[in-house]
Amino acid sequence: MQPESIHQARRVIQVLPPELRNQIAAGEVVERPASVVKELVENSLDAGATAIEVALEDGGQSYIMVRDDGHGIPADELELAVTRHATSKVTNLAELARIMSFGFRGEALPSIASVSRFAMTSAHAAAEGGTVATRIEVEHGRVLASGPAALHRGTIVEVRELFANIPARLKFMKTQATETKRCQELFARIALARPDIAFTLSAGRRELLRFPAGQTLRQRLGTLWPPAVVETLYAFDRTTGTVRVHGLAADPRGAQPRPDRLLLYVNGRAVNDRLLLKAVREAYKGRLLAREYPQVVLFLDIDPEEVDVNVHPAKNEVRFRDEREVFVAVLRAVGDAVEASAQGIPDETEPGTDPFAAPLRPVPPAAPHARPLGFWGEADRASVLQPSGKRRPDETGHVETVLVGTEPASSLTPDPDAWSSATGAWTERKDDGTRRMDTGTPDDSPNHHGVPPRMESPFMASSTAGDTRPVRALHVAEHAAYGMDSSAQTSRPHAQGEASVGTLSGTGADRDAPHTPQPSGEGLEGGVRVGDHLYLGQIADTYLVLRHGNDQLVLVDQHAAHERVLHARLRRGGMAGGGQLLALPIELPLHPAELERLRLLDDDLRALGFECSTSGQTLRVRAMPPVLDRAGATSFLREALAGRRENLDDLWAMMACKAAIKAGQHLTPDEAAGLLAQWLATPEHDFCPHGRPAVLRFNPGELERMFKRRT
Ligand code: ADP
Ligand code: MG
Repeated sequence: MQPESIHQARRVIQVLPPELRNQIAAGEVVERPASVVKELVENSLDAGATAIEVALEDGGQSYIMVRDDGHGIPADELELAVTRHATSKVTNLAELARIMSFGFRGEALPSIASVSRFAMTSAHAAAEGGTVATRIEVEHGRVLASGPAALHRGTIVEVRELFANIPARLKFMKTQATETKRCQELFARIALARPDIAFTLSAGRRELLRFPAGQTLRQRLGTLWPPAVVETLYAFDRTTGTVRVHGLAADPRGAQPRPDRLLLYVNGRAVNDRLLLKAVREAYKGRLLAREYPQVVLFLDIDPEEVDVNVHPAKNEVRFRDEREVFVAVLRAVGDAVEASAQGIPDETEPGTDPFAAPLRPVPPAAPHARPLGFWGEADRASVLQPSGKRRPDETGHVETVLVGTEPASSLTPDPDAWSSATGAWTERKDDGTRRMDTGTPDDSPNHHGVPPRMESPFMASSTAGDTRPVRALHVAEHAAYGMDSSAQTSRPHAQGEASVGTLSGTGADRDAPHTPQPSGEGLEGGVRVGDHLYLGQIADTYLVLRHGNDQLVLVDQHAAHERVLHARLRRGGMAGGGQLLALPIELPLHPAELERLRLLDDDLRALGFECSTSGQTLRVRAMPPVLDRAGATSFLREALAGRRENLDDLWAMMACKAAIKAGQHLTPDEAAGLLAQWLATPEHDFCPHGRPAVLRFNPGELERMFKRRT
């Protein structure tokens, strides 16, 4: 056709033939095989099915079958079912406003039937008893045949050669594997909302997913998400005004840079709603890195009159009448779970019904102070330690230090009696004989930042404001997100400004030190010289305070700094060599997805010093890198197999994280100085391998600004 031909002779206006109308509508309703699966499964749910089976061939392109045991369609309505704008779900506007079924537009079946070879067989209870089954066949929108069939119960829909008559659409199909994956994702999303119903999905001869009827949400997620995430889920359920918001939210410390584990439902319908997304993110604010996403399954139950689902033919968008109420309801409900996770409050979901709902009791951390011999590398014997006042005039010039590896075994091993099952807390015996409560998360929880769950330290409340968000902050967030009252956005004091300089001396840095550092003669009350830095003490058992030269205040995050040191050493191959053989192998039950990933990582793990084998679904670890302890190794493997890290460098970073001293760990001045000396000698030491800062520096100018001596 010439381009100008369209402007030539005018053609008459006419009503489009039904096939063409359906094909045009199909453009919006059936984008790809996954949308067919979604529409058909939703029809089955609307028909009251208790078991739904889906089969695919070639990613759904050559064949899709959905079978259910729902109430079926009477023979005389079968043709109407494939007619546009014919539906059994609404009859008037008032009903539309209160719609609770998935369908109501009467568009899906005619659309699908207009772009495929379509057949539907349905059984319906006959007036005279028994059931009557009928079958209809439609090709590219034209009814080919209809008549009696043999089917005992429910409905079977078969869709063959999807889009064969729409070449433009075919071109947009991805590979079979991709289309299968999309079908699987949509199928799983629907199945999560109805754990009472049995669902099966197969592709070719392979069964991809099977969910028995009567499961819990947590059980279903157990099939879909890695155990490392499912083990850290917290339930939430809160009603704000007329809006109920419930579901499961994962501990933010296990967050990952992937957005596909944020599943939102409104009145049982899976939606992609920006308002809800924003509210969930807001609830996690301050606990996630910029590239991380919350892992949440959220159900919002609301009066159907308060929400409009008729926004788009695919019905995965909604509009709320009172957006603010919805936002606040979600923020509060998810906020509950996030708070609970921060405090390690046991989760009591669905008591009695859910075998996974046993309170998520933190596992006692394995030997919190244990550091393998040789762990500090050079610093173990290091002459880098030069506590200013305690230089021993021995011939080597070495300084007397207490080597971490030589700590008495009793102080390395937590006292099993110190585990309190009542509080779920570990009472840790400190070197100085005092006990400290620590409602810790398991040591092998996926905590990338070594951030301790909660601490009693008086410094902690302020210096980790991001971790313990006061209730007030939640209200501020509610307002701020709506730009309602910007003055309510109380500026949080600078974290740096809260370092309580006045209490710096005697912060326990020297409490149980093997010796008391002597005044250095630099006008300060002590300190350990490390190069041109003077180490002054530890704050909150987490941050090391230093003076650089004469006038710079330096704060170092001990975990981040040690991570950087270990990462550099791993990179240099400085920790290469055989693994450490385990007298008692570590055994880990694996999820099929983890087994798959194990095969991919096999070489990398061996290079790191792991020696693993599998028997059935269980991984046996006979040797592990000497830098890790058992808990660290378990946690490392869990995370590596969860697929959070891509290459060897990522694995090094993760191993460094697992092996590094944690935040909240008391260091003697010698230990701190040893760490600092190594850290200063490590390239790129300003950031940890994950990109978080390891150090904050304050020049007099900045201090003046913070003290408002200067504007
Ligand atoms: P809608 O779901 O919007 O009503 P559809 O085109 O998807 O439109 O379906 C048309 C009608 O066919 C439905 O209203 C319903 O009465 C009937 N129907 C479709 N699928 C099934 C099924 N699996 N079991 C029973 N009835 C069905
Ligand atoms: Mg429908």
